Amino acid sequence: MPEIPQCGTCGKELPRKDRGRPRRYCSAACRTQAYRSRQQHDVEKLRRKASALLAELTQETAGVPPLAQFDEEQLREALRCARATRDALAALNLALGPEAGIRASLVRPPEKEHE
Ligand SMILES: [Zn+2]
Repeated sequence: MPEIPQCGTCGKELPRKDRGRPRRYCSAACRTQAYRSRQQHDVEKLRRKASALLAELTQETAGVPPLAQFDEEQLREALRCARATRDALAALNLALGPEAGIRASLVRPPEKEHE
């Protein structure tokens, strides 16, 4: 027995369509809610990334700022600056060698990061 398609937000059964892409949501409201929830998830991901990187960079200085209050734009900017700082430290380490005393965790090659 084929599975009955359900709304991705509220779980309501969706009418079958004979042609075209199957519907994923029962209504515009459910589609909007799903979009908002994905957006929220993205912002939380940004916040975790920024928090981890800032923690690495600031461990021995001021600590991590309260990212819970940052909006998406501020998080992206914080991440951009933190990555630039990390890359600058890596470059400094390359130029000066290990004697520069830059912690190894900060000088590993940049990871592939997308957003
Ligand atoms: Zn629905």
